Amino acid sequence: MEALLRINNETCTACYACVRACPVKAIRVQTEKVKPEIIPERCIGCGSCVAACGPGAIEIRNTLDELKSILADGKKIAALVDPSIAGEFPDITDYRKFVQMLRTLGFTYIHEVAFGVDLVARAYSKLFKLSKGKYYIMSNDPVTVSFVEKYKTGLVPNLAPIIPPVAATAQVVRNITGEDVILVYISPLIASKDEILRFEGENRIDMAITFVELRELFIEANLHETDLEYSDFDAPLGYKGSFFPVANGIIQAAGIEEELHRTPVITVEGHGMIEAVAEFEENIVNIKHHFNLFYKEFLMGRGTSAGGKRFLRESQLIKYIKTRLKTLDKDAWSASMDKFVALNLDRTFRPDDQSLPLPSESQVNKILKEIDQLEPSAVGCGACGYASCTDFATAIAQGLAIPEMCNTYASRNRQDHIQSLKISNEKLAQAQDALKLSERQAQKEKEAAREASEIVRRMLHKLPSMVVICDMNLKIIQTNDSFIEMLGEDAREISEVVPGLAGADLKTLLPYTFYNLFTYVLVQNESITNRDIHHEGKVLNVSVFVIEKEKIVGAVIRDMSAPEVQKEEIVKRLNEVIDKNLGLAQQIGFLLGEGTSEAERMLNSIIESYNLRKNLKDR
Ligand code: SF4
Ligand code: SF4
Repeated sequence: MEALLRINNETCTACYACVRACPVKAIRVQTEKVKPEIIPERCIGCGSCVAACGPGAIEIRNTLDELKSILADGKKIAALVDPSIAGEFPDITDYRKFVQMLRTLGFTYIHEVAFGVDLVARAYSKLFKLSKGKYYIMSNDPVTVSFVEKYKTGLVPNLAPIIPPVAATAQVVRNITGEDVILVYISPLIASKDEILRFEGENRIDMAITFVELRELFIEANLHETDLEYSDFDAPLGYKGSFFPVANGIIQAAGIEEELHRTPVITVEGHGMIEAVAEFEENIVNIKHHFNLFYKEFLMGRGTSAGGKRFLRESQLIKYIKTRLKTLDKDAWSASMDKFVALNLDRTFRPDDQSLPLPSESQVNKILKEIDQLEPSAVGCGACGYASCTDFATAIAQGLAIPEMCNTYASRNRQDHIQSLKISNEKLAQAQDALKLSERQAQKEKEAAREASEIVRRMLHKLPSMVVICDMNLKIIQTNDSFIEMLGEDAREISEVVPGLAGADLKTLLPYTFYNLFTYVLVQNESITNRDIHHEGKVLNVSVFVIEKEKIVGAVIRDMSAPEVQKEEIVKRLNEVIDKNLGLAQQIGFLLGEGTSEAERMLNSIIESYNLRKNLKDR
């Protein structure tokens, strides 16, 4: 079966108000799961967390859908209505209209749990009269019963062994209507949804819905009292059992003495229930009283509408009781009480110890040190939901809480976080400055490279020699004017559109013998120098060299027929001849004993005569 309560992670804001409200610390917060979670085994169904949760993130197990389908099926179904209903509907002026609304919804029988209260009250009166030195905690409040079973297991034998009024009513109704009737308890407590599950056989109750859920049904069915006739509860009707919604109502119904110096029962309602159980455990030998305990009296139970006013509800209840008592047939009531005198109202309890092992003192101290509470106050600020820092550290050790729930710890962590953010921001700013600096540097370098490239480009264009640079696909990267000039008119026109013929295919511009030299240099990675090539009646001297291995090659081409090149080249080549012959002559001279100066003189005179003739001609 689905848990009674669950936290919706979508709507939960992790404010931990529920953790603070839970009287038994049944809500766990774990580091890896930021949102809290309810531990069903530890929960006693008090509903304090539901009331504390502002965003309404705690969902209660829904039974309405199942009830609607049962009502729609037209099965025999009985409503067992808790007497506190009188305080829930101040908007319905006559309780008989309310009964008729239930019949209109489809309930076959409408019974008051007040009669069950009368039966149970009689059982308590008998129990207290017969008890000799043993004192009991009355077991009408499912939250109190659950608390004792889970957290005060030593007191389980002191829980009064009497079924709650709704179970007694179930027996009565089944006795009247037959076994096949479906019984639905309309309750002011969410805890009733779990409580009814423990009753079987003659005490069985099939379903429990809260007053809030009943309201939803009325709204959905669009029921208004003005449209309806009067109808009364089915017999047997209750008598003083109607007092049950207030804490001492059952004592009055049982006719137990209430005067302070005579009463055998102490009644406690509200959160004091937990303290009262502790006192019962410690001091019952001296207290010598039975305890009538309610975590929340039924009139203001957690299944009633939120924001209900305590005294308005009580006044409604009193008004209802007065009306009922005025018309109640006491003889018929007495007869019914007699009729059901033999009902078995006994019950048993099952200890279900949920107390957790306590951590060692050193463990607790270590945690206190971690959360910076070396000198914890005895009371604590309560922000974490625990009574003291030591209790909080104990809960951390037990896996129920996390240090982040402590305000001091969280605030210090926030400061650390802010500080580390500050440092990161400073580092980020420094990195940004450095980045800007290097960007400026890179920009400068880029500018310098661009200028250098421009200078080179201009120089290239001024060179009398032809220059061409191309990539591994023999596409032109750069040329100069001389090269374009050498290619002719078409190339000149293209260069006006595509400066420097960038991207043009060298193979389409030069003959094979020419561009083959480029291919060779690209493949072999070996430069070619001073190769003479005949091209369109000219002798071109070509040198192709590697600029970037296998990727870029460049060539310098000189027109050997150009006068300045011719002269320079002849002088250069004669010098080479002289150098070669000089070496040879030196060797021969050495061998023949003859000087080589004659040969040198001869060659020099050739050069000079050529130069002289040339100069005269030029002039
Ligand atoms: S219902 Fe009560 S016991 Fe259960 S988790 Fe909520 S506050 Fe705790
Ligand atoms: S009170 Fe509600 S919102 Fe806050 S932590 Fe609990 S479930 Fe989440």
